[in-house]
Amino acid sequence: MSKIREEVITANQGYASSFGAKSDLALPPARRFAILTCMDARLDPAKYAGLSEGDAHVVRNAGGRATDDAIRSLVISHKLLGTLEWFVVHHTNCGMELFADEVMADLLDDDLGTASFDGKTWSNPHHHGGHAAGHFIKWHTIKSQETSVAQDVRRIREHPLVPKSIPIYGYVYDVRTGRLNEVKAASEAGVAAA
Ligand SMILES: [Zn+2]
Repeated sequence: MSKIREEVITANQGYASSFGAKSDLALPPARRFAILTCMDARLDPAKYAGLSEGDAHVVRNAGGRATDDAIRSLVISHKLLGTLEWFVVHHTNCGMELFADEVMADLLDDDLGTASFDGKTWSNPHHHGGHAAGHFIKWHTIKSQETSVAQDVRRIREHPLVPKSIPIYGYVYDVRTGRLNEVKAASEAGVAAA
């Protein structure tokens, strides 16, 4: 077993051994809200938003973008599981600011191994031949956090399957301070209709 796999299984045994009353948690989130946020390893929504098991839905992807699949989850979150307020949380120093679609597609076309970033450009350490499929994917990169949060809140707000009654709040999490800073333009776009 790989070292990481062993660590994960050991950690899980510890967690399960003191699972206690969590076995009785209901399926619908008790505090009736959802967060869409980035997969960045430095972000822990349970900690930055004060969540316990059973409290809220957390939908994560690269960038915390309002992709079709993120919207699918949010619609299920409300329609079947009763959430009533949503947060979109992007963050400073996001990896999604560090490349453009063509860059990613070209890197993948050349090699599938992990590329390296010198602070300015990405390069592949090997050139074993990748695949052109990356040219057909929209990678949802970010140019400015404030703009991306506002765009995503607006996209969710305008989606035909999202009820106007759900307020959608836009925030940027600061990775240097742990603080959530509101993006006014986003929250204004996400205001619920009475
Ligand atoms: Zn990120």
